[in-house]
Amino acid sequence: MIRFEHVTKRYPDGTTAVDDLSFEVARGELVTLVGPSGCGKTTTMKMVNRLIEPTSGRISVDGEDISGADPVELRRRIGYVIQQVGLFPHKTVLENTATVPHLLGWKRSRARERAAELLELVGLDPAVHGSRYPEQLSGGQRQRVGVARALAADPPVLLMDEPFGAVDPVVREHLQNEFLRLRARLGTTVLLVTHDIEEAVRLGDRIAVYGQGRIEQFDAPAAVLGTP
Ligand code: ADP
Ligand code: ADP
Repeated sequence: MIRFEHVTKRYPDGTTAVDDLSFEVARGELVTLVGPSGCGKTTTMKMVNRLIEPTSGRISVDGEDISGADPVELRRRIGYVIQQVGLFPHKTVLENTATVPHLLGWKRSRARERAAELLELVGLDPAVHGSRYPEQLSGGQRQRVGVARALAADPPVLLMDEPFGAVDPVVREHLQNEFLRLRARLGTTVLLVTHDIEEAVRLGDRIAVYGQGRIEQFDAPAAVLGTP
């Protein structure tokens, strides 16, 4: 589903963030990218939706070389969740969630129906939370809206950059569990960046362990932990 072939990213200041990276993520697989700060995880992820362009190498999504894709169109097919979810402050929770289906040209009523369904799936009550504005929610609730919004248009691929990093540990565990259930239902292919090895192990079907600009190990959690 996602394929990197000899991908290198060098920033204009000479920093090599990612060095000759090759890997594949299968359809429906959840791969966690883990490693210390500055080792190239976010750069890897942002190249998948062309927020960052590789210096060399080839990236394909669902068999299509993305260097030829329209970035805006590409991003509608690839959900994206970051640590501080940027919800539109002047839109309600329901409107925020319906944004991408709406952009994709879904009818307003269908987009809203879908948004309500997704809010429910992430544990929010559309009748209660749907008409609120982001500032009226707790951090954990905002993060849920971010996940619902990213999934509202049924993207085949979801990119998540420290999605549970900004909430307290109890809420985090709760969100992680809900996310696992949700994903089991949707079958979305997921790349998830974290610096937390426990989170990587808990969520990942496979784990990409980063060293400086490289993946040093790419394996199932048990193998990464060194248990047979
Ligand atoms: P991680 O997500 O693992 O923390 P990043 O992909 O953000 O790592 O960064 C990898 C390396 O690239 C780091 O050394 C970082 O300082 C550098 N880097 C990231 N973005 C830029 C940029 N826009 N310009 C120059 N260097 C950058
Ligand atoms: P959580 O345990 O998810 O972090 P909080 O303890 O922050 O939730 O919030 C508890 C309840 O209070 C939630 O139902 C939330 O919708 C509501 N709430 C939190 N902040 C506000 C606010 N500024 N305005 C209205 N309701 C709020």
